[in-house]
Amino acid sequence: MTTPSPVRMMYAIRCRVSGSRTRAEIDDFLIEHPVTRKLVAFSSIDSPWRHSPALLPQAEAQARADALRRASGDPWQIELAPNACPNCGRDIGPDRIDFCYPRVLKSGPWRAGCNEHDGGCGFEIEGSSYDDVVTKWNLMQAEALETA
Ligand SMILES: [Zn+2]
Repeated sequence: MTTPSPVRMMYAIRCRVSGSRTRAEIDDFLIEHPVTRKLVAFSSIDSPWRHSPALLPQAEAQARADALRRASGDPWQIELAPNACPNCGRDIGPDRIDFCYPRVLKSGPWRAGCNEHDGGCGFEIEGSSYDDVVTKWNLMQAEALETA
């Protein structure tokens, strides 16, 4: 007997600040340190390799982001990570910036898609916000797996 597994909803912890005359741009995220296995800011390690953001359950991720915000004064936040494509099963990294974006700059529906230019199948859905469309995406994958 198999019980349907709960939908996997995992969160990355990120900090993004647009650059301006008065402050430097920040685009940072937490990773698992390759040696110590502790969660550290990507910018804090000297590594030539690309690292994927660490993924945590929501409550744990939120607690980390809150602590970092208090300690650094920078706007650390949690961000829902996409699961694999519900149509073709291709893994989509939480740091894919072209996976999900608003159709029209700063407004309108958001799209999430398995981009053909990345070797994906072209499957695409829409939602009212980043969280809305990525939540739908993750729920669809759970349904696809159960009927497979
Ligand atoms: Zn796909």
